Amino acid sequence: MSVARETARPSPLGQLWALLFPTRCLGCGRRGAAVCGRCEAMIPWLNRETCHRCAAPSPLGRLCQRCKAAPTALDGLRAACTFDGIVRQAIHNLKYRQARSLAGLASSLLADSLVERPLQADLLVPVPLAAGRRRERGYNQAELIAACLSRSIDVPTAAAALERVRETPPQVGLSAPERRRNVRGAFACSAEALVAGRRVIVLDDVATTGATLAACADALKTAGAARVYGLVVARGS
Ligand SMILES: [Zn+2]
Ligand SMILES: [Zn+2]
Repeated sequence: MSVARETARPSPLGQLWALLFPTRCLGCGRRGAAVCGRCEAMIPWLNRETCHRCAAPSPLGRLCQRCKAAPTALDGLRAACTFDGIVRQAIHNLKYRQARSLAGLASSLLADSLVERPLQADLLVPVPLAAGRRRERGYNQAELIAACLSRSIDVPTAAAALERVRETPPQVGLSAPERRRNVRGAFACSAEALVAGRRVIVLDDVATTGATLAACADALKTAGAARVYGLVVARGS
């Protein structure tokens, strides 16, 4: 296994796609950027009044009651935005409409939020998709975002550090405890040499309760990671 900097150069099909369907602003539809200058004000940035462990709303950024009662293996969870408006649209298009170029937008949202509140890390690890879903989609959106972010914050990516060892039903509609049970033991890390003693950022597009990221953190800490932080583009509710 190697720590690779992946290139995000579009495939020939991707280039043809870009030619046929030029980037349009998610806010107003104008051609050009994924979010134009006029629509930047519509980005639903998450404010700082969030629990540093799970990114849920919490006055003055204090540790929330749920994290006090049931701590997880995650040392922290950061989200750039709320899962609303143009960010919700961007993630939807990135996941379900083959809009791979939106990984660049997602990465720049994360990079901007990290300028405000830096996270010290040695390694970026995207949350792996279930094999079947990855085959269907042709890519893992978290991996695309990690590849872009890796270049902009100069932290290497280890896309193969985590693997899904068990298929899990979708988390949608489940309560927080059900979500934790659903993903418990679903991930494994066999890259001890890569993660031991390291500070790792686990990256995903969206987190709701953080259960998936916590299950990833469990696997990474079992493999010896010193610290594990979750980083997501958007915090769902
Ligand atoms: Zn616009
Ligand atoms: Zn919390």
